[in-house]
Amino acid sequence: MKIICIGRNYVDHIKELSNERPKDPVVFIKPDSAVLPNEQDFYIPDFSADIHYEVEVLVKIKKVGKHISPEFSSLYYDQLGLGIDFTARDLQEELKAKGLPWEKCKGFDGAAVIGSWVSVASLENVNDVHFSLSKNGSVVQQASTSQMLWNIDELVSYVSRFFTLKKGDIIFTGTPSGVGPVKAGDVLEGHFMGQSMFKIGVK
Ligand code: ZN
Repeated sequence: MKIICIGRNYVDHIKELSNERPKDPVVFIKPDSAVLPNEQDFYIPDFSADIHYEVEVLVKIKKVGKHISPEFSSLYYDQLGLGIDFTARDLQEELKAKGLPWEKCKGFDGAAVIGSWVSVASLENVNDVHFSLSKNGSVVQQASTSQMLWNIDELVSYVSRFFTLKKGDIIFTGTPSGVGPVKAGDVLEGHFMGQSMFKIGVK
């Protein structure tokens, strides 16, 4: 199983990090060892003093596909979820400044939170799914998939030009604005169409 992540897919988040609006989606990969085991706490790693949460809608691939046209993308996924792309922002800033790859700041153990899944059939429109993240009970990120620069079908198509998608692969579709730091003792809870999808503690 691989985890393919999209960066800079919401205009308001691009602005908050003073990034350029990309011509193509920014793509990176997390190893399967980055998945935070179910119901476990997230431990802040010793190499960062600035771990940020990024809530993201997830797409679970259901069959093998390569060079998928956007009009056929919906045949390749049947579940959406919600997760967190934990990012060591201090380390990322260093790597970005040097033009180096992002794996160390985004692929470390526990950096991929994967919550519950919802069947696409139960959703009225995958391009208008409302989701949010709360920290210690206050909403810190809130958006709709309608605000994406590249929608889910376009992302599935785009990444399949570079990587063969396999059953069980997961795409993290990018975060909206409101990203911020976590500290020990925080509790993060994600909601998707009003339903709680994960709740994790930070240690
Ligand atoms: Zn992200």
